[in-house]
This record gives sequence, structure tokens and C-alpha cells, in this order.
Amino acid sequence: MSKIKCEVVQDLITLYVDNLASKESNNIIENHIVNCSDCKIFLEMLKRDEIITNVVDKNNKAVDSVEKKLIISIRRRTIKRNLLALLVLIIIVVLSTLLDNCSF
Ligand SMILES: [Zn+2]
Repeated sequence: MSKIKCEVVQDLITLYVDNLASKESNNIIENHIVNCSDCKIFLEMLKRDEIITNVVDKNNKAVDSVEKKLIISIRRRTIKRNLLALLVLIIIVVLSTLLDNCSF
């Protein structure tokens, strides 16, 4: 059996952590990390990331879908309002500069 490159294993590890890798891939990874500390560390790091992502996901799921929609619509409204405010500000600035130029 040829030695698999760490690059290949690390590509597979991302799938492995997400439980998307095939049994064969899982075996390759598990056999590889026994002898490769680099990939083992890589896996540990990914696992830690995965835990953090899961916590965030759980928090998001705790928010009711109706609440989510509300939050999204409020955000959209706020963005629109901010854009309008910015537009008005630009118009005021342009007008005041024009008026200043006229008075001179
Ligand atoms: Zn390796």
C-alpha cells in the first residue's frame, strides 16, 4: 500500500469531521494519523472548530423560525433606512455646497 500524502489526508479530514467521508476514507485517515502527528494535530484543530460551529448552530436553531424571519426583515428595513438617510445626507451636502457657491 502506497503512503498517502498528508495533503490528500487533510482534504479527507474535513469530510471526516463532517461525517461525510466513506468508510474507506475513514480507515485511510485513521490509519494515517496513527503515524502522522501533523495530520493528527490538523484533525484535532478541525474537531475543535467543529465544536464551536455546532454551538453556534445550536444557538441559531434556538431562535424560532418566525423570529428569524422577523430579524431578517428588520435588518433589511434598517439597511433601507440607512441607505435613505445616507442619500438624504448626500443631497443636503450637495445642496449646501451649491448654495455656498451661489452666495459667493
Ligand atoms: Zn499526514
